[in-house]
Amino acid sequence: MTSTDAILAIHGGTPVRPAWLPYGRQAIEEEDIAAVVATLRSDWLTTGPKVDEFEHAFAGYVGAKHAIAFSNGTAALHGAAFAAGLGLGDEAITTPMTFCATSNAVLYQGARPVFADVRPDTLNLDPVLAEACITPLTKAILPVDFTGNPAQMDAFMALAETHGLVVIEDAAHAVGADWQGHRVGSIAHMTTFSFHPVKHLTTAEGGMVTTNDDALATKLRTFRNHGITRDSRQRELAGDWFYEMSALGFNYRLPDVACALGLSQLRRIESNLARRRAIAAQYDAAFVTIPQIGTPKILLGANPAWHLYPIQLDLVQLNATRGEVFRALRAENIGVNVHYIPVHLHPYYRENLGTKPGDFPVAEAAYERLISLPMFHGMNEQDVDDTILAVRKVIAHFAK
Ligand SMILES: *Cc1c(COP(=O)(O)O)cnc(C)c1O
Repeated sequence: MTSTDAILAIHGGTPVRPAWLPYGRQAIEEEDIAAVVATLRSDWLTTGPKVDEFEHAFAGYVGAKHAIAFSNGTAALHGAAFAAGLGLGDEAITTPMTFCATSNAVLYQGARPVFADVRPDTLNLDPVLAEACITPLTKAILPVDFTGNPAQMDAFMALAETHGLVVIEDAAHAVGADWQGHRVGSIAHMTTFSFHPVKHLTTAEGGMVTTNDDALATKLRTFRNHGITRDSRQRELAGDWFYEMSALGFNYRLPDVACALGLSQLRRIESNLARRRAIAAQYDAAFVTIPQIGTPKILLGANPAWHLYPIQLDLVQLNATRGEVFRALRAENIGVNVHYIPVHLHPYYRENLGTKPGDFPVAEAAYERLISLPMFHGMNEQDVDDTILAVRKVIAHFAK
């Protein structure tokens, strides 16, 4: 009996692996622990020298003039929405195929997220459909680099130029990705990143905005610290204690302790990306011969960072729903996940923005067929082989 004829674990058979493999996981090395401990022993726990060091190192890595650290990726998006000038009555165009934080940031500013559908191949925001949504109220576009596969940034920057818009790229998945030879983080007016443990780099919680624009950088720094400004001339006149709150900001600061961890993690980003790209190549090669599975499509000019590796099931060729395949893979101890429930289908959006099923058919059809396989740099060969074996076993069982 070959392994793919074996009884599925969900039907009482032996799972492909004895221990659970998550879809994503952080990798913490001794040098990371040492860096955090050194900062704990220093004079600075929150805003101190490690914030500057991390910001400079990160800006250097993505090739941007400025990097501004935030307490998480959602706060970074909120900061970018503020700096873009989004407010009551404004509209911002984005994709439904994302985590809800992207469009929530627009709502935080009192503006209205306007969704446009995704391309069927990459599931990234379609520039042609986005352009069709531009109205006199549109102020910003928020493309998302879904799975770490960069959006068509040249097209979005051209749209912004023509229509006077601000582009905020949500690159929570895409640290280290390139589009047409340009590193993600150096292309849009503002690019946001997340350092949640499932992402490439972690600071436990953390985020970053990168920009080449001095005025936007100043707004972002002010916003993350209560909207407080300290004008040096006024301080000379009034006294060193002087500060003014000039905008309604938040406390969105990222502590020194977290930045020490981020700096240490950033030193290993290249090997991290190389490992993810190798795993993606192994998956691609293994699944090309399985007609029931579609693998991620990469446009010419894109060099993805592989935060996620989603497969799309061809349900017409299967005697199972996505849910049944998902549960069968989990029973094999492969921690698959689904990214994403299209944002416009969440109850909050349906109730407050009037969105409904059928609004974005490409995103909705993809959602019914998507399964994210384990993808993280700490996966060893056994983990990759087990995932491939489990997919073959489950698909062979349900294939028509
Ligand atoms: C993770 C993520 C965020 C939010 O980042 P947090 O650090 O968790 O706040 C935003 N957008 C996308 C696409 C994400 O995946």
